[in-house]
Amino acid sequence: MKELQGMRLTDRIGNTPLIRLNHLSDATGCEILGKAEFMNPGGSVKDRAALGIVRDAEARGLLKPGGTIVEGTAGNTGIGLTVVGNSLGYPTIIVMPDNQSQDKVDTLRAYGADVRLVPACPFADPGHFVHQSRRIAEELNAQNPGSALWANQFDNVANREFHQATTGQEIWQQTGGQVDGFVCAVGTGGTLAGISRALKTHSDSITIAISDPTGSALYSYFTTGELKAAGGSISEGIGTSRITENFADTQVDVPYQIPDSESIPLVYELIRQEGLCCGGSTGVNVAGAVRLARELGPGHVITTILCDSGLRYRERLFNREFLASKGLELPDWLSL
Ligand code: PMP
Repeated sequence: MKELQGMRLTDRIGNTPLIRLNHLSDATGCEILGKAEFMNPGGSVKDRAALGIVRDAEARGLLKPGGTIVEGTAGNTGIGLTVVGNSLGYPTIIVMPDNQSQDKVDTLRAYGADVRLVPACPFADPGHFVHQSRRIAEELNAQNPGSALWANQFDNVANREFHQATTGQEIWQQTGGQVDGFVCAVGTGGTLAGISRALKTHSDSITIAISDPTGSALYSYFTTGELKAAGGSISEGIGTSRITENFADTQVDVPYQIPDSESIPLVYELIRQEGLCCGGSTGVNVAGAVRLARELGPGHVITTILCDSGLRYRERLFNREFLASKGLELPDWLSL
């Protein structure tokens, strides 16, 4: 039989379209372009970190055939690792804080991940989901050496390196090198750190901005040198209290702090005016892109990340009572 060369699922990670946000581009006089990471097979930007970490671990002999991948995650990295793991034959154990949207937990269970929910607590607490996931991997490896990989997305720089090699190069190529600015929020920092490095290597004059949600410590870090957080946000997967290995030594030119009152209305605007239904972190990113467009002035090309689908947060983003409890509201045209 003639050999058929079907595409592999993992080959569909990356090479996402760069979508022009028409309304916001016209309003600012800039080209505001969003990298459609929600179109990855697992539905988020974290598919890239997942594949980068798995390929790196395979190459270094840390992940053997059939080995178990263990990770602590707000959800999307778990989904990415499970999609990649299922496709390549690695089961996953996913440790998540219990304050994340139910849709992400349901999605992980639907993909067959072994999901372990733990109480949400500060990183310094040994019960934090990241530490619990590390201990699970250590125990598996103590019982059966080499049987488990702790993905360690926050401090494993394979995350950043994959973004540098793929997302950053794609943005440079898709804009034909005509990119003036890039902005996004930080969870592990892999996305911003990798893209920043790739773009700065091509041209040091590209402005890199961070759009940090309230409740995260990075805006304060870049403005005062001190890691200090205040307030909160309903956005998930972003914001941090520390400088991760992935984010360390990343050149950030402009810091923005984005409150939910600015980002969440943009989530609905993207639905209504662009036909794009994305989650809260995308609202934070796009708010940063609008601020950067206004700061640089008309005629510039600003790029950002459309991280995941808003339907992943259905019972929060489209829930009048939940929003009201956070001082937010649905727009009039949404008949929910
Ligand atoms: N948006 C969403 C929805 C996420 O899940 C994450 C990752 N936790 C991010 C943005 C941030 O990406 P990174 O970890 O690369 O900083």
